[in-house]
Amino acid sequence: MSDAAPTIHHVGVIGAGQMGNGIAHVAAQSGLAVTMVDVNPEALEKARATIAKNMDRQVSKGSLSAEDREAALGRIRTGTDMAMFGEADIVIEAATEREELKKTIFKSLCPHLKPSAIIASNTSSIPITRLAAATDRPARVIGMHFMNPVPVMKLVEVIRGIATDEPTYQAVEALARRMGKTTATSEDFPGFIVNRILLPMINEAVYALHEGVGDVVSIDTGMKLGTNQPMGPLELADFIGLDTCLSIMQVLHQGMGDSKYRPCPLLVKYVEAGWFGRKTGRGFYDYSGDQPRPTR
Ligand code: NAD
Repeated sequence: MSDAAPTIHHVGVIGAGQMGNGIAHVAAQSGLAVTMVDVNPEALEKARATIAKNMDRQVSKGSLSAEDREAALGRIRTGTDMAMFGEADIVIEAATEREELKKTIFKSLCPHLKPSAIIASNTSSIPITRLAAATDRPARVIGMHFMNPVPVMKLVEVIRGIATDEPTYQAVEALARRMGKTTATSEDFPGFIVNRILLPMINEAVYALHEGVGDVVSIDTGMKLGTNQPMGPLELADFIGLDTCLSIMQVLHQGMGDSKYRPCPLLVKYVEAGWFGRKTGRGFYDYSGDQPRPTR
């Protein structure tokens, strides 16, 4: 590869879930051609509808014109076949958080890509270096960790695998800027930067609840008003998904081999109960009524 950072005109997205549709939305709104692929055609339908609805909201708030909305939606192609990625300058993978699945996706993706194409993963916790080793181009594999909801959150954490080359890093930095985001660069260690710091705080909040130091409302109010955070740690855990929180704590615990990262038994218990937070209607709060109600 040449030393110049390749310019990105066409973005591929794998996975049309909550993160994939947000990435496609922001890329299309930035004037880039977008191809989004998912194994599930219903997920693609739902993603298109979500993007259209979220752009409607931007139009009604005056942050996007009706013409730009039409043009952006017109730049998004969807399908179920990875052969659609032949023109892509970068493919951003945002499929389900399972290492084996992501490796399988990368193996079947590579033969369809042009040699210069970059592969980025939006993984929250899987080492980029391990994913890169499953491809034919480890130097062009990088982490591009968007935050949820993607159209709203300003940060993209960029993660360099051990083999990632400088032109790939520069190209991804420029892409993130073009998408209106600010980057923070992390080396490839467990949890990267944001989750390495955030998840132990959430886990500690669950320990405080578990040990009876405070109830849900006291813990969230204490942290919201006492440390100026827009959401308390337990409310935020419900928003992220308690299953996801537990899986990131397990990655930190295993990856660092340090007992300070042990997941709180109460967090494990909630996940065993299927109480994953907002997405299942119950976590540290109960979402079945008009207003979330604390459960402890
Ligand atoms: P999600 O469950 O909403 O979506 C995942 C999508 O991947 C589904 O539509 C599924 O059909 C699709 N998929 C599964 N196997 C596939 C395959 N072989 N090929 C193509 N598509 C496939 O999940 P999500 O919350 O959007 O998370 C996606 C990724 O983003 C994960 O790696 C997650 O860790 C990461 N992430 C999530 C968040 C968050 O807050 N949810 C934040 C940052 C990063």
